[in-house]
Amino acid sequence: MDKVIIVRYSEIHLKGKNRSFFEDLLKNNLKSALSKYNAKVVKIPGRYEVFGFNESDQNKILTAISKVAGVFSYSVATEVTSTYDAIKEEVISQTKNYSGTFKVFVNRGDKKFPLNSMQLAKEIGGEVLRSNKLLNVDVVNPQHKINIDIRENGKSYIFVDVYYGMGGMPVGSSGKGLLLLSGGIDSPVAGYMMAKRGTKIVAVHYHSYPYTSELAKLKVENLAKILTDYNGGEIVVHMVNMAKYQEAIHTNCDDSYMITLLRRGMFKIAERLAKDNNIDMIITGENLGQVASQTIQSMTVVENVVKDVPVLRPLIAFDKSDIINIAKKIDTYQTSIQPYEDCCTVFLPDNPVTKPRLVNTIKEEQKINFDALLEEAYVSKEIVKFVSE
Ligand code: ATP
Ligand code: MG
Repeated sequence: MDKVIIVRYSEIHLKGKNRSFFEDLLKNNLKSALSKYNAKVVKIPGRYEVFGFNESDQNKILTAISKVAGVFSYSVATEVTSTYDAIKEEVISQTKNYSGTFKVFVNRGDKKFPLNSMQLAKEIGGEVLRSNKLLNVDVVNPQHKINIDIRENGKSYIFVDVYYGMGGMPVGSSGKGLLLLSGGIDSPVAGYMMAKRGTKIVAVHYHSYPYTSELAKLKVENLAKILTDYNGGEIVVHMVNMAKYQEAIHTNCDDSYMITLLRRGMFKIAERLAKDNNIDMIITGENLGQVASQTIQSMTVVENVVKDVPVLRPLIAFDKSDIINIAKKIDTYQTSIQPYEDCCTVFLPDNPVTKPRLVNTIKEEQKINFDALLEEAYVSKEIVKFVSE
């Protein structure tokens, strides 16, 4: 009998009238994540069914599904017609080599099925006991959990394992976000968190070539590549060179304001990029109190330069250890900890101001040709696009 994969969605259940929009989007995202495996994806009541794939691709398909936002859980299942005999035969066949304890769980989506879930669980449990003398029922802590999911399409799905997905909402359901992607640990995690909530991520990376190396750029490209799977299979990265802007600050401004001014420049360019590309929000990996530039005063003075686009900071209240755990889970951590310099470390002052004041910041900014320098950086940007491999 052919294996299928049953995919369950999470919060889409809460949607009212526009639920089918979310369901279609998730179906398309699943299709594109699985396109290279020749797998078909169809909607069945309350779930999706993935079928028609080679069994040798099954593990790769499960991994791909684990990276699709909006998926709550999924199981490898066998599909049978919803009759008592067909269900019984399949359960007996799946459990024939088991020993120890088991319990049958029934989910009766199809209320027309003649037995209710308690009755069916009891009957099928009895059939299993009669067919396999090495098994006993344990309703509290069973070793084997046999699940029977009776759907409204006349089909039932029999499975043992339930794997948990990313959760969240399908990518594309919550606008587009411009992720300020550094080579650090935090910003890739921030991008992942927003993709998980349905935001399509576009990235911008600021470098300071030739002060920063090609390897530093490559590291960021590698991080972007890892994010593609979580981002609907692709990511566009804008690479912007801030070297001249930084030189100007270094030569003309108070050193302690270096980082504040650099970050205002980054945010200003981000706002322009967002407006020029119909992007709804700016996303950063900032985290309250983590470093001098992430005090509430610094963040306020930096954000003040942005007028028309909201700035979201999904990691604002996370502890570093929590961010690291997510970075490990999504596989960005090992790349993030490679020791290449970031443009923030070029001309780094000994004593960066931790509580910059807006008036002083603007006074420092007026010592350079802020708009012209940023314009020059903006127009010389490079754009790269990565797609899932
Ligand atoms: P991360 O681990 O993300 O690098 P961090 O703790 O090093 O964070 P900062 O360097 O202060 O923190 O940067 C805060 C945020 O600003 C980053 O999470 C990122 O969103 C953005 N950022 C910093 N440097 C860059 C850069 N070179 N290019 C693009 N965005 C950047
Ligand atoms: Mg950083």
